[in-house]
Amino acid sequence: MRFDVVTIFPGYFASPLGESLIARALDAGLLDIRLVDLRSFSDDPHRKVDDEPFGGGPGMVLAAPPIFTALEALRAEPGPSPWVVFLSPLGRRFDSRVAREYAGRERVVLVCGRYEGIDERTRQAGLFDEELSLGDFVLSGGEVAALAVLEAVSRFVPGVVGDGESVLRDSFEDGLLDHPHFTRPREFRGLPVPEVLFSGHHERIRLWRREQQLRETLRLRPDLIAAHTPTDEDRAILARVAGPPKAV
Ligand code: SAH
Repeated sequence: MRFDVVTIFPGYFASPLGESLIARALDAGLLDIRLVDLRSFSDDPHRKVDDEPFGGGPGMVLAAPPIFTALEALRAEPGPSPWVVFLSPLGRRFDSRVAREYAGRERVVLVCGRYEGIDERTRQAGLFDEELSLGDFVLSGGEVAALAVLEAVSRFVPGVVGDGESVLRDSFEDGLLDHPHFTRPREFRGLPVPEVLFSGHHERIRLWRREQQLRETLRLRPDLIAAHTPTDEDRAILARVAGPPKAV
């Protein structure tokens, strides 16, 4: 899968893309991530891409011309036509479902805003296929949002996460939060690991984990439980645990 990230700070991405899962996926050719320096599309001798807002007010605005030129150039490239996304607090809320949906696309362009934002005419002209928001807070630029999207989407690209199973078992994948995890030591500061995990009994462990998922989701995210279609097994567990929480 290919991503192009349009940014005025391409250097921002060096370390996160140079480590761990994404670095390995890039090496293996599972991902192709290109950093596009917005400044290289500026006509200005000083490669300026921002200007003061008309009407006054604080801060600067990313000007329309370099964004138009950059996106026209990216769209004109041969190969699969890209899905062009502007990272913006006004956008559709990014979540696991959107990440999975994006992993099915061949090429995604992520455009990072900065300062007060970008000239509205980029939106009016329909330069973007979609706007995505990380949530109801304001970042100083789209770069952190682009990294979050890159990482979450990449996890759904086949082969990127070594054990393909583990993605399917993560939080939200079946509409529930993940179950707890434990590793050595077996007891730490008086806190033992639940006995069932040493039973070697796969079915009991699976049931225990499912119960933990349902309990934790019920406690922390009742909205997810409300939207969840329970299996018969889930229904039986929920009926049992819906009362006052019991120690496990
Ligand atoms: N004045 C704007 C915020 C601009 S922040 C407003 O109040 O809505 C500068 C840039 O950071 C934005 O153009 C966008 O690209 C990025 N950004 C900020 N918050 C974001 C969020 N929650 N999700 C995705 N991108 C965000």
